[in-house]
Amino acid sequence: MSGRELFVIGHTVLGRPIEAIRFDPPSYAKPRPTALLFGAIHGDEPASQLMLERLAEELIERPPGRVTWIVPVVNVDGILAGTRNNANDVDLNRNFASATWGTQHRPGYNPGAAAEDQPETQALVKLIDEIQPHRIITVHATYRMVNWDGCAEQLAKEMSERCGYPAENDMGYPTPGSFGAKYGVEKGLEVITLESPYLIACEEAWLETRSALRWCVDLPD
Ligand SMILES: [Zn+2]
Repeated sequence: MSGRELFVIGHTVLGRPIEAIRFDPPSYAKPRPTALLFGAIHGDEPASQLMLERLAEELIERPPGRVTWIVPVVNVDGILAGTRNNANDVDLNRNFASATWGTQHRPGYNPGAAAEDQPETQALVKLIDEIQPHRIITVHATYRMVNWDGCAEQLAKEMSERCGYPAENDMGYPTPGSFGAKYGVEKGLEVITLESPYLIACEEAWLETRSALRWCVDLPD
């Protein structure tokens, strides 16, 4: 049984708690940089929540090889309402303080009135400041892809081998103020945006990505 602890890392616009779980590796594991995985920054992507809840269940029985934080749902209000954006109708994945953040946006991709002015974004930023993860996996549901930023090319290839999704460095469209822009491109961390299909059963998305997700946190063979 691994060590694990539950935390509330902040509250949503509507005051709901945003929860995180920390898993500790077995005491004999070599020290490795901390990993953070989070899902459902878009509330209409429930597969990402289920994928991380399933991973968390597995880590109870079989601990990770590094300190691993999991936030299954960032956009709690959005998940409950079934909306991509948060309760202020802001796209949280356009709300980060990257150099590319700006108020101009495509319809529906509202970046907020100021960078990081949303409580859900602030909760994630504060957590990252506190735990200093080097490896960050952000899980979405759009199409099958392992998108990488910063120094994550090698990890993306390893994950790609395990889930069969292509490893790509370019989403194919601009993403100003995105998580990957701030923490991958600008801060140079190992940032993966794992995309499973939007129109797929949640359980199927988990089964497709399970070994790739475990690879990010497990002890090397
Ligand atoms: Zn998304």
